[in-house]
Amino acid sequence: PEACGGCVYRHLKYEDELISKHSRVEKAFRQAGLADAVIRPVLTVKRDGEHITKGYRNKGMYPVRQGKSGMEAGFYAAKTHKVIPCFDCALQPDFFGELVREVCKLCDKYRVTAYDEETGKGTLRHIYLRCAADGSTLLTLVINDVKLPKPAAEGLVHELVGRFPSLCGILLNVNRENTNVVLGDKFVTLWGKDHIEDTLCGLDFRLSPRSFYQVNHHQAQRLYEAAISQAEITKNDTVLDLYCGVGTITLAMAGAAGKVIGVEVIPQAVEDARDNAKRNGIENAEFLCADAGLAALELEKQGIKADVVVVDPPRKGLNADTIEALHKMSPRRIVYVSCDPATLARDIKYLTAGGFALQSATPVDLFPRTAHVETVVQLVKETEV
Ligand code: SAH
Repeated sequence: PEACGGCVYRHLKYEDELISKHSRVEKAFRQAGLADAVIRPVLTVKRDGEHITKGYRNKGMYPVRQGKSGMEAGFYAAKTHKVIPCFDCALQPDFFGELVREVCKLCDKYRVTAYDEETGKGTLRHIYLRCAADGSTLLTLVINDVKLPKPAAEGLVHELVGRFPSLCGILLNVNRENTNVVLGDKFVTLWGKDHIEDTLCGLDFRLSPRSFYQVNHHQAQRLYEAAISQAEITKNDTVLDLYCGVGTITLAMAGAAGKVIGVEVIPQAVEDARDNAKRNGIENAEFLCADAGLAALELEKQGIKADVVVVDPPRKGLNADTIEALHKMSPRRIVYVSCDPATLARDIKYLTAGGFALQSATPVDLFPRTAHVETVVQLVKETEV
């Protein structure tokens, strides 16, 4: 665990970790020229009076290697592709480790070898786990082949399903490229379901293994509640949710709004989002599969006026199209959910230069013990302040 470099804060008191994360957000805003921004205290979650700083993740992606006495799984050492064997990551639920250990043993038993990046030989690349809040778990084996030999596939399924009743599906993912990208395009179901089902903010969600989903269920709920309250939606509002994933925020806001539109670039996630609207009987939600910036510009051109816009981009933040579309649409409120304080502060600088006032910035500790910080920001159209 020392070598993988994930838990950079493991030696600090959690209170000190929170102080450090808070000042990191403050510093990012200062460096972007937003010295007056007031950063609120970091939102955390407690269970039975204790902060949850362990076992909180619902996703694990374990690269494997051929060790001296068989297959090993773990994490890449920081900034390398050297696999550090680890079956007991403190941030993952305990049963993830047990399941991964068993997969390695069974691969030895059924002669499935570990893929070697250097030579391009070997079969298993990654063991990918994702679980719902109720523990039901989807296992995906990422392989450098189109299938596993029949005895291996059948043996793995039979033995794993017998030992791990929480499994809801076992999939193969085909990735034959010499690439850093973990998942290939094709999934094959070996057993059970090809997705998991989770409940979040009182709604049911289907998630395909390709779709983005927040890894910390408890804290994600906290984050979304903050985003919803800061959106201050009213019944006639049109809400645009850019970078919507499987529609978590979009659908959680649908009840309060007149209409919600989600935009997401990954087709599987959009399929999930549409299915999720149906599952929850939500009829005022529409999802577009497109680049967020291009879709926002196009909607604006069509005269669709969003009253509230939510953006939740990947680490690189918003592109010029999205900023331009936000300026043109001029919504009453923008809620910006960010996983990178530096790009967030940069974008807030652009947005405040274009007629929006920064109301609040609230860090949320979605990733205790790691260096990552999530922040939710509320911006209001200046004429509305
Ligand atoms: N709001 C969602 C997802 C946030 S993650 C949630 O909380 O679950 C960011 C999402 O943006 C991912 O689903 C990713 O696939 C998507 N994405 C990345 N680049 C994009 C782009 N250019 N246009 C639209 N969506 C994009």
